[in-house]
Amino acid sequence: MPPKKSKVVSVYTRCNEYKDIFHVDNNILFCNYCNVSVEWKHKSVVDNHCKSQKHISNVRSQEESHNRTQQLTLSSTRAASESKNQLIEDLIEAFAIADIPLEKVNSLLPFFKKHVKNGGSIPHAPTLRQNYLPNIFDKYYQSLKLLFDSKPMAIIMDETTDDCARSVVNTLFCYCHETKLVSVDFLERVTNTTMG
Ligand SMILES: [Zn+2]
Repeated sequence: MPPKKSKVVSVYTRCNEYKDIFHVDNNILFCNYCNVSVEWKHKSVVDNHCKSQKHISNVRSQEESHNRTQQLTLSSTRAASESKNQLIEDLIEAFAIADIPLEKVNSLLPFFKKHVKNGGSIPHAPTLRQNYLPNIFDKYYQSLKLLFDSKPMAIIMDETTDDCARSVVNTLFCYCHETKLVSVDFLERVTNTTMG
């Protein structure tokens, strides 16, 4: 009597011996990389297929193309998120320049979604205020600081009376050969304390 086999080998058990290299179709073992059927009854035949030049080069080229696709996806995702941030920051700046409260964005969202490229990614006003506005404020603050950095500036305050006999205090800024009236205050009394 021949010795009893300890393990029954089937096309499925053979396939499971090699992780993610083969699949079984209609009781035939197929190589995922080479797309050819491989005789499975003898392990040595399967091992030889895995060691063949053809198989090794197929594995390498598929892994390379997989990596390339992943890199492409990653860089296009990054570009999309950068253009989305740019759109939102420009929108906030435009609203600030036009003196429009950010709250008004909410009612414009359907319009942006319909007519502006990536308009659907513009969030509601509270998100704009919390996540985007501080960053833009910082940038603007830094650029203002650079503008005035170590340059002479004069503040002029003077008091006069208007045609209703009220005391008017005008405050002017002089900077870079430009003079601007920045505030007009009507005071009850004009003394060195209120002026101070
Ligand atoms: Zn193969």
